[in-house]
Amino acid sequence: MTAGTRHLKRFVGATIAMVTCLVAAGCTQPISGTPTTAGSVSPASVAGLPATHGPSGPRPGADDANIPVENSAGGRTDRLAANAIADIQAYWKDAFPDAFGGRAFTPVERLVSYDSTGPGIDLCRQSTAGLPNAFYCPIDDAIAWDRGRMLPRLENSFGPMAVVTVLAHEMGHAVQQRAGVLDSSTPALVLEQQADCFTGAFFRHVAEGAASHFRVSTGEGLNNVMGVLNYIRDAPGETGFAGPRAHGSAFDRISAFQHGFGDGPKRCVEMSADSVKQRTTQFKSWKDLQETDLPVDRGSVDVIEKSLRQVFDDTGAAPPRIITRKSPCPGREPTSPAFYCPETNTVSLDIPGLRDIAGPPATDERKSGYGDFAAYAQVASRYALSVQKAAGLSLNGATAGLRTACFTGFWGGSLLEDPIGRRNPVGRVRIAPGDVDEGVAALLSEDGLIAADLDGDRVVAGFARVEAFRIGFQRGLGACIAEYRR
Ligand SMILES: [Zn+2]
Repeated sequence: MTAGTRHLKRFVGATIAMVTCLVAAGCTQPISGTPTTAGSVSPASVAGLPATHGPSGPRPGADDANIPVENSAGGRTDRLAANAIADIQAYWKDAFPDAFGGRAFTPVERLVSYDSTGPGIDLCRQSTAGLPNAFYCPIDDAIAWDRGRMLPRLENSFGPMAVVTVLAHEMGHAVQQRAGVLDSSTPALVLEQQADCFTGAFFRHVAEGAASHFRVSTGEGLNNVMGVLNYIRDAPGETGFAGPRAHGSAFDRISAFQHGFGDGPKRCVEMSADSVKQRTTQFKSWKDLQETDLPVDRGSVDVIEKSLRQVFDDTGAAPPRIITRKSPCPGREPTSPAFYCPETNTVSLDIPGLRDIAGPPATDERKSGYGDFAAYAQVASRYALSVQKAAGLSLNGATAGLRTACFTGFWGGSLLEDPIGRRNPVGRVRIAPGDVDEGVAALLSEDGLIAADLDGDRVVAGFARVEAFRIGFQRGLGACIAEYRR
């Protein structure tokens, strides 16, 4: 986030303009995204499936797929990958004709395993030596994976479903090739977004219990899968709409995954350069905006408080007092690192706790941080409770938690240099793509308040938490009210 003078030049001319969006559904801008029926987002479901806590991973007792893998070492990683490919291809055998006018799906010509730490083999006109990757190669119609480094690392960090996630994405590129979508004129980001969308469509099939070798719960299971997409997002410097290596920010990738999961491959096929441009958070000048961190101190809190007052001004809600010490709130157990007391309309902050969240990602010894936006989004979430209280909305329960995430997303979306949906820029605080990714990482974690109700309770499905944040970010406050009514 930036609030100081570093980017001041950019902001000359951006006078402090109030948002014109009241708590009314009519004022939101049409944005390409999941069209949901008003009031249709149920906190107990994940895109229409029940939120579940069951086991995720390989199905115990399932026979290994009988599928030839070139250069295989025959080890566990290769078996895991081959089983994943078998399930993904079984899915496309049915889904491809549906999505592409009845045409049949042909399996990928070659599946190749290699060890990037060993001697290279020639594949896709390159050597695999020192190439920790998994990829689809259109020249050879091959899906290849590094069993030496890449897949074991992913599995170590995220479990076996991480391998399935990455291979489903690569198969998405094979599907594009077969469908004739993949051509040199299509921007890389569109292809990547669509492959993530296809990945989401496949995971719905897994979540429905229809895959032979794998299962995934819609609660923690999908949280983990989306965590993988977050992890393999573009590194700084590789971002941008047109870059050859553009995969999109974590927010973009998870959004695309959710579209596929919710609406199936037909929705992915509709993705075009235009629709992705409209939606992508990396469009225009934003891609050049590098993140600078706001420190967590009273001065920054004042800046954030001002921004929150501006963003929520038109709701007419009396702004809460924001204090950086404990304050009594009889009969209530305070949440940490921020707490809203409805009786006194006060948000009290624990600055060291916010600093932990703003800190860098975890090392072995210390708790994970997510970045400054994630920290200030905690503050925004408690502020959002005061706005909900003023509007006579419930502050407790799953819907209140998701509506809080939605309001917090609305605040985040109002801090764009060039806001999606053309809402007016507000104040001096600006966010960069990395900021939103911090918010998404925090939303997928099992702590924090962005999607929590007054008591700090969250719905289990990270899918629903991110979806709520995105609805507010892209469609504004009116959509939050319409979608999270009860
Ligand atoms: Zn890709």
